[in-house]
Amino acid sequence: MAHVINDECIKCGACAATCPVSAISEGADKYVVDADTCIDCGACEGVCPTGAVQPE
Ligand code: SF4
Repeated sequence: MAHVINDECIKCGACAATCPVSAISEGADKYVVDADTCIDCGACEGVCPTGAVQPE
């Protein structure tokens, strides 16, 4: 299980700055979560201004 970022992402970067294990990086159209690194803590879900981060 890992959190995922959907198309509501506006590439603000808030999630990447919050992730304690640096699982989030900037992709072509949106930020993306590396499922192998994510520990499912949910920190990014709380900081996203558009609600784009969701538990998978
Ligand atoms: Fe990082 Fe936690 Fe979000 Fe996973 S759930 S991407 S570990 S902040």
